[in-house]
Amino acid sequence: MRIVVVGGGIIGLSISREFHKLGYEVVVVDKGEIGKGASWVAGGMLAPQSEGLEPGIFLDFCLESRDMYQAFTKEIFVDTGLDVGYWKSGIFCPAFSLEEKVQLLQKLTMYKNLGLSGEWIDREDLEKRFSSLGEDIVGGVFYPEDAQVDNRLLMEALTLYCREYNIMAYEHSKVEKIITSNGKFEAVRTDKNYIDGDVCILAAGAWSGEIADIPVFPIKGEMSAVDIKKGELDMVFFSSKAYLIPRKDYSRLVIGATEEKVGFKDGNTVKGVLKLLNGLIQTFPHMRDRNIQEMWYGYRPATPDLEPILGESDIEGLFYATGHHRNGILLAPITVKVITDLIHKREKSEYLESFSYKRFLK
Ligand SMILES: Cc1cc2nc3c(=O)[nH]c(=O)nc-3n(C[C@H](O)[C@H](O)[C@H](O)COP(=O)(O)OP(=O)(O)OC[C@H]3O[C@@H](n4cnc5c(N)ncnc54)[C@H](O)[C@@H]3O)c2cc1C
Repeated sequence: MRIVVVGGGIIGLSISREFHKLGYEVVVVDKGEIGKGASWVAGGMLAPQSEGLEPGIFLDFCLESRDMYQAFTKEIFVDTGLDVGYWKSGIFCPAFSLEEKVQLLQKLTMYKNLGLSGEWIDREDLEKRFSSLGEDIVGGVFYPEDAQVDNRLLMEALTLYCREYNIMAYEHSKVEKIITSNGKFEAVRTDKNYIDGDVCILAAGAWSGEIADIPVFPIKGEMSAVDIKKGELDMVFFSSKAYLIPRKDYSRLVIGATEEKVGFKDGNTVKGVLKLLNGLIQTFPHMRDRNIQEMWYGYRPATPDLEPILGESDIEGLFYATGHHRNGILLAPITVKVITDLIHKREKSEYLESFSYKRFLK
């Protein structure tokens, strides 16, 4: 069976890899280079608790994927020889006011009631660990199970997998239309050619709504990175001001991220970068002298309820794997599982009911 995957981001490439392992013929189509898109842009946090997700099916989905991550990255290492920087560093959420402290403590209690771990750390204890701390920080909550992955290394590894195992990738080929015959998927028409197959998986990130009639739209995010000393920070800081992600094996602190509904409006803005850098120095004032390494931006694939669209479409043979919004890096392993179980094993995960496109048909 031949599977056509539209979109070579983390979702498309992870799905392609799994189907290739299962013995399918896989073709990936991307309007640019594979391995870029939002997946290259992201921070790589695996952060369901730090994100403050409310109890429910979406939190369960995120927690299950977080639990799968170590094995997912280990398998990729075995396949490609690339360590993609999975790091269970834990994520610390600082409170910048007493009001924020109350909110964070409420979330902590909520997670404890669900049997999840986390602890409050007072400013006094933080001062023993960090030489300079923003003066407004009153303490914060540490979630030891939240983690990170180096998403750029992960995209390099998934791209390498495609190249090494001869998964056919049509790059710089923009899918313009899904072609059907008698309600069944037949081919995709790109700006260059037709690519046919038995099954198509739409994983075109923030652009998915341009290809199929589903409500996926971009939420822009700007990012930056500065120099830090290797090992200077040993956990992620995630706050209302910014999030700060130290990479494990090299001297880089990734700072994220703004959120704006401005469509596909390319470029870094003065206000966006100022917000990020102010967030940095409000957390660590001594970092005002650090060199800026890079500024970049990208587009989260959002849906009206900010949860993904997964599974069958109204076209036989066309499946959706998109709309992962702020958590697409986190959700790659579980997305691969529910999509391959559906197509390969014909097993329908309970999650698919909740994340069906049908919830938007009213
Ligand atoms: C600033 C920022 C920070 C983020 N931080 C995190 C984080 O810390 N943790 C986390 O879990 N998530 C994070 N995310 C979210 C995460 O990056 C996304 O949810 C995830 O990357 C989506 O993956 P994807 O494969 O669906 O999309 P993408 O990676 O965007 O890939 C989609 C691909 O489809 C291709 N494509 C689009 N249209 C067409 C077409 N017509 N024809 C052919 N190809 C097409 C694109 O070129 C692209 O390569 C962040 C996102 C942003 C923007």
